[in-house]
Amino acid sequence: VDFGLKKELEEQIRVFPDFPKQGILFQDLTPVFQNPETVNRLAESFISAFDGKFDRVLAVEARGFILGTAVSAVGGRPLALARKKGKLPGEVHRADYSLEYGTATLEVQQGTLKQGDQVLVVDDLLATGGTLSAAGELVVTGGAKVAGYAVAATIEGLDGAERLSPTPVFSVV
Ligand code: AMP
Repeated sequence: VDFGLKKELEEQIRVFPDFPKQGILFQDLTPVFQNPETVNRLAESFISAFDGKFDRVLAVEARGFILGTAVSAVGGRPLALARKKGKLPGEVHRADYSLEYGTATLEVQQGTLKQGDQVLVVDDLLATGGTLSAAGELVVTGGAKVAGYAVAATIEGLDGAERLSPTPVFSVV
C-alpha cells in the first residue's frame, strides 16, 4: 500500500454517523472525488496492486462507476457496468444479494464481459462483501474470471474480504 495515498484518503473521507440510518457510520468520499489527483493515484494504485493483470473493469453502481471509470481510462482497459435492477436495456445477467433489510439485485448486460477475460471489479467501499460478491457472480455468469476486487476503503470487523476469499481484495484504507 502507498502510505501517502492512504493518509490522503484518511484525511479526505468524511464520516457521517447514523446515515442513512441509525447505527451506520457512513463513509463519504465526496471530498476524494473533488480531488482529481487523488482519484488518479487511486486508479494507479489499483492497477499496480494487480500488476496490470486484468483485461476489463467491472464498475459497481453508483460510486464504483467513478473509480471504475478512472481505472478504465488510466489503465486503458474496457469498462463494464454492474447496475441496480431494471436500469440496463436488453438481455442481462442477474445476481441477487442480501442487504441488512431485504435483498437487492445487480445486473450486467449480456455480452459486455468476454469469455475468459480477467476482470477487475471496482467499488468505493467494502463492508459485508455482499455487493462485490454479487458482482463477482455476474463476472462468472458472463463466462469471465474475477482477477480481483479493488476498493478505496474497507470497513473493518465485517469480514468482507473473508467472504470474497480466496479472490484477492485490494483496499487502500
Ligand atoms: P456491502 O455489500 O455490505 O459490502 O456494502 C458495500 C456497498 O454499500 C458499497 O457499494 C458501498 O458504497 C455501500 N456501503 C456500505 N456500507 C457503507 C458505509 N458505511 N458508508 C458508505 N457506503 C457504504
